[in-house]
Amino acid sequence: MKTDKNKINKIIDLGENSPLPRPISPRECKCGCGYTFQPGRIDQVYLNKQHANFGYNHNTRKTKHSNRKKVEKMLCNNDSILEKYFKAHRQENCATCFLDALKADGFDLSYFTGTDERDGKKYFCVYNYKFRLYVSDKIKLIEISK
Ligand SMILES: [Zn+2]
Repeated sequence: MKTDKNKINKIIDLGENSPLPRPISPRECKCGCGYTFQPGRIDQVYLNKQHANFGYNHNTRKTKHSNRKKVEKMLCNNDSILEKYFKAHRQENCATCFLDALKADGFDLSYFTGTDERDGKKYFCVYNYKFRLYVSDKIKLIEISK
């Protein structure tokens, strides 16, 4: 009887106090170590500072770096394809080629470093070359210049 009363008092006490913070469920450390820990803060994703450093060096930075490498590779590839077609088909200051031929060579229109507009024409720049796209007789053409 006495214990039951104590229990009830305890429950009531808890109810009268300001609500307890919701417990944070245990989570797996983001570094990839496989360790599950009890976070002290809601935004804690690593077990401790050492794991955070490891995670940063091996996950985040690596991903960032590999994305950058991929983009640079695509840009270099586009630039060398433009160079190849420019040198092979050059007439005065520019070369006009079938876009499909460049695409078949691996040219990817979604990789360029910037755009430039001149005389109402839009140019896309890569490292050393720029190009513009247009359609003539339903054929997609690319004009390449330096
Ligand atoms: Zn870890």
